[in-house]
Amino acid sequence: MSKEKSAADKLREELLVQNKHMAKVVSDDEINKAFEFSKGYMSFMKKAKTEREAVKEIEKMAYEKGFEPFVPDKKYKPGDKVIYNNRGKAVILAVIGKKSIKEGVRISAAHIDSPRIDLKPNPLYEDSELALFKTHYYGGIKKYQWTAIPLSLHGVVIKANGEKVEITIGEAEGEPKFVITDLLPHLGQAQSQKKLGEAIKGEDLNIVVGSLPLKDAEGGDAVKLNIMKILNEKYGITEVDFRRAELEIVPAFDPSDIGFDRSMIGAYGHDDRVCAYPALMAILDSKEPEHTIMTVLTDKEETGSDGNTGLNSAYLKYFIYDLAAMEGVPGYRVLSKSECLSADVNAGFDPTYPEVMERNNSAYLNRGVVLTKYTGSRGKGGTSDASAEFMGKVISLFERAGIPWQTGELGKVDEGGGGTVAKYVANLDIDVVDVGVPVLSMHSPYEIVSKLDLYAAYRAFYEFFKD
Ligand code: MN
Ligand code: MN
Repeated sequence: MSKEKSAADKLREELLVQNKHMAKVVSDDEINKAFEFSKGYMSFMKKAKTEREAVKEIEKMAYEKGFEPFVPDKKYKPGDKVIYNNRGKAVILAVIGKKSIKEGVRISAAHIDSPRIDLKPNPLYEDSELALFKTHYYGGIKKYQWTAIPLSLHGVVIKANGEKVEITIGEAEGEPKFVITDLLPHLGQAQSQKKLGEAIKGEDLNIVVGSLPLKDAEGGDAVKLNIMKILNEKYGITEVDFRRAELEIVPAFDPSDIGFDRSMIGAYGHDDRVCAYPALMAILDSKEPEHTIMTVLTDKEETGSDGNTGLNSAYLKYFIYDLAAMEGVPGYRVLSKSECLSADVNAGFDPTYPEVMERNNSAYLNRGVVLTKYTGSRGKGGTSDASAEFMGKVISLFERAGIPWQTGELGKVDEGGGGTVAKYVANLDIDVVDVGVPVLSMHSPYEIVSKLDLYAAYRAFYEFFKD
């Protein structure tokens, strides 16, 4: 028997924001769909740990769905599906809309690079009969989190003859892994007195890669020589080839369900593949959209979006200009009429560390996609700050489609902050707001997200494309 709602209860519902766990709002069917969707995501995550691997996987999935490589001078018709590969590290997928390009395009933009550890150009050295790699970390990491965990090596090496060698080692069953050492607690007393951020230095992130000397070799480099011999036999490379390589060290963990109820996923690189994957699936599943729709999956966000595969470069603009030229429309006119969901993660509220968050303006796991009006730091420095009008448009879209949504801010004022690709898109004169998934332990080797939020993100991008 349901109790009659009091006048106050009714008024509360009418006037106040209701923060609800998604499981209390959505149907059992939707929860099942979210769990099912997560399986596809986890298998993608296992195969796509670097931006290059993500691009390969995305291309494969897109070709299966009828996408074709983009040809700039070709005339495309509504419903045509194209994919543009930017140097193997970023992609744009587009489906041509029924409306003229003059009406603008709908963009979902996520990034497929994640914080990691890169090899230096002269990485290999021997010290005390151990062979090691020198590294330079990529993006924002807490260095101590990367010691004493299994690591794998991914990337490409260009040989003197121009041949590209692709390397992935430490992922498949039975393959060796790598590790960064840490001090034992018995000898770590001085280390423990240091500040957390200083206890492990950048130059301490040395990767152990071998310990056996080449038989009969004289001199102090017999272990290094033996490693180079192994690499030469396996990949045909020599030491100088490291100087024309991009080799990345990432955690060797597999994605996994988290919790007795399996409601969460632990994985390396949720930031930002937990948005890239649903933005990808949304465009793969879209049919005959009104506007031309695009999913941009970019590189270099974690180092500030600079570089020709990052969104601070002109590649997205050039792509849109090519589509505009097809209809004889000036490119800038298309940009000015376009809208974008900048698909990036936000920090989820962590009950173990409540002191850095402001409870009323934090994102919570399982409350749906996070709308982040602005990022930046210290007085909104370095953010595009979405307009009230565009917030209104996106919120009403979510409300109409029944997509659970919440708002978020990256920590307390003046305590932290960060950025996304949103401002680079906004600077093209496009309306943009950040929409993504809340993450726990962001930028750590093993981040956590909720399956329900992941699915809400898919629905959000899908509905945005349909609009
Ligand atoms: Mn991100
Ligand atoms: Mn990040």
